[in-house]
Amino acid sequence: MDTTTADASLFWDRAAQGELVFQHCDDCAFVRWPAAGVCPECLGRGFTWKPVAPTGTVWSQVVYHRAYDTSLRERIPYNVALVELTCGVRLLTRLTGFGTADPVGAAVTARFEDTGDGPVPVFAPATGTFAPAAGTAEGNVS
Ligand SMILES: [Zn+2]
Repeated sequence: MDTTTADASLFWDRAAQGELVFQHCDDCAFVRWPAAGVCPECLGRGFTWKPVAPTGTVWSQVVYHRAYDTSLRERIPYNVALVELTCGVRLLTRLTGFGTADPVGAAVTARFEDTGDGPVPVFAPATGTFAPAAGTAEGNVS
């Protein structure tokens, strides 16, 4: 596996194996996303792809009532969120398992769902840290 490329395909290759990896700057350790050839913090060019903890916090979210990908047609409406990972990266992703509860500020953990093009990371409530209202434990906002 080529670990020297700045191309984000490595992120998707590893996500398909159930792992979140990002570029870590060799000079200042900044975790980069999106993948880039130059560090936005120190302008260093060296980096190493490394796994990170699949945990974070929901920073913001919107409800999509239209499927912008055919694989999501059956899930309308669905939650799209900006999740701030523990490593500091903010990842645009989909949420699952929040029902109609407001997820902003909730602790989440990545899991990987196959959309037909291979597994992609989505985020669900971290075990034991979120108590949705009755009847909203699973499914999408209705
Ligand atoms: Zn750097």
